[in-house]
Amino acid sequence: MPYQYINGRLRNGSADETLELIDPSTGIQLDTVDVASADDVESALEAARSAYNSWSRVTPGERAGVLNKLAALLERDAEDLAQLESREAGKPIRLAREFDVPGTIDNTSFFAGTARNLEGKATGEYAAGTTSSIRREAVGVVGSIAPWNYPLQMAAWKVLPAIAAGNAIVLKPSELTPSTTLRFAQLATEAGLPDGIFNVVTGPGATTGATLIAHPQVDMVSFTGSTMVGQQIIAATAATSKRTHMELGGKAPFVVFDDADLEAAAHGAVAGSLINTGQDCTAATRAYVQRPLYDAFVAAVGELYDRVVLGPTDDPATDLGPLISHQHRDRVAAMVDAARAAGSTVVTGGFAPEGPGAYYRPTLITGAAQDSDIVQNEVFGPVLVVLTFDTDDEGLALANDSRFGLAASAWTTNVHRALRATRDIRAGAVWINDHIPIVSDMPHGGYKQSGYGKDMSQYALDEYTNVKHVMFDTTGDAHKDWHRTIFAMP
Ligand code: NAD
Repeated sequence: MPYQYINGRLRNGSADETLELIDPSTGIQLDTVDVASADDVESALEAARSAYNSWSRVTPGERAGVLNKLAALLERDAEDLAQLESREAGKPIRLAREFDVPGTIDNTSFFAGTARNLEGKATGEYAAGTTSSIRREAVGVVGSIAPWNYPLQMAAWKVLPAIAAGNAIVLKPSELTPSTTLRFAQLATEAGLPDGIFNVVTGPGATTGATLIAHPQVDMVSFTGSTMVGQQIIAATAATSKRTHMELGGKAPFVVFDDADLEAAAHGAVAGSLINTGQDCTAATRAYVQRPLYDAFVAAVGELYDRVVLGPTDDPATDLGPLISHQHRDRVAAMVDAARAAGSTVVTGGFAPEGPGAYYRPTLITGAAQDSDIVQNEVFGPVLVVLTFDTDDEGLALANDSRFGLAASAWTTNVHRALRATRDIRAGAVWINDHIPIVSDMPHGGYKQSGYGKDMSQYALDEYTNVKHVMFDTTGDAHKDWHRTIFAMP
């Protein structure tokens, strides 16, 4: 099938190259992907630019109507979308059915509501003889780049607030997982979204992506992906002073105080570290456990890790799917091997099971140095490192000792410790006695090198709108008082 969606129609990309679409659970090729050329990116941007003016002037109620219809269509096609997402991204079908697709439907309904809730300061007389008001306006044409770990949800997080606020968008999904994004765009057209408002260009980041983000017709770049690529994009967009919104990497700490409910913390660590085979920017990756609970925590998590079922992605009994590709699996394995070679203990896991898929056993590591690669950098796989601490100050300092700041959790039954953790941990989200849940109504976004700006929630609309001050003279006077400051006419 064609892999470009431009001006409301599927089209073949006109670049010379093609890409292979691989099922990571089998290594079997699913399809051949045509690639968007610079001309295709140009066509998508032209379509977006010409559709933008009328869409930005449509009433919020009409935009909400389209999004409500889109939510209903996503509900209608939920099972097909879950199957497609599962096959292409290597997700266990349970995860696709219970998290990816319902999350997207809820997000769509949420942004139907927020389309009608743009807010600003009250119109009023803030200087004598004038009335000021605020207009909140769409930014224009958004160029957006998404990753492969949650293809449908990441597309939704980018597209929904943008179009709810009246923008047009050209989105480049990851070249590894374009299909549910294309289906999402087709459903948006079926829901009544005007042609050209939501376009998809598919291809590699270095060509299709780089062309899109640097293009002068793009008013704003919204990116979700690694910190390294995000930094390249910030540099590349500086030349045209584009607004940027960056959702980047994470290395979430998981801090367990000595009064925590051990069973809750151990189960939370397993679910929080293994979600999406650890390929989650908010996944628990560094557990810091206060010394009295350390041994019991390591034993409990190790035992639960050993019970995790790896299997075919379409089997509802499968807990853990493969990594996104064999290349990524090799990268994860190399990081674990390097930690082992540096003296860390691999308590369980640390190997790829036999078979053609890109699977890797859940891996628990202890004895790593705080400044080591496995503690400081993203593994993006089913790997949890456990370290210990003595005082509360030390635990919180270790949690903050990272260049990332996307998410974190603290586990305690003491309200004062909990409140202190929420105040002192520098991250865009802090959970107490849980790790991972997200809701459409609340913002998601990073501190530090995890980026800036917010996805989801009312806050996302700030990213995709400009605030304009409009000031009216209310006196009708030809000679205003303040003119005296500039020329003192007799
Ligand atoms: P990536 O940075 O390698 O790629 C992300 C996207 O950028 C892809 O579509 C890719 O094709 C494109 N790209 C690559 N080079 C480009 C360039 N020079 N110009 C323009 N586009 C380019 O990330 P990934 O491996 O796809 O995804 C995993 C990363 O995403 C992890 O670091 C993870 O933490 C992060 N992530 C962050 C969030 C968040 O909300 N903060 C959510 C999901 C994933």
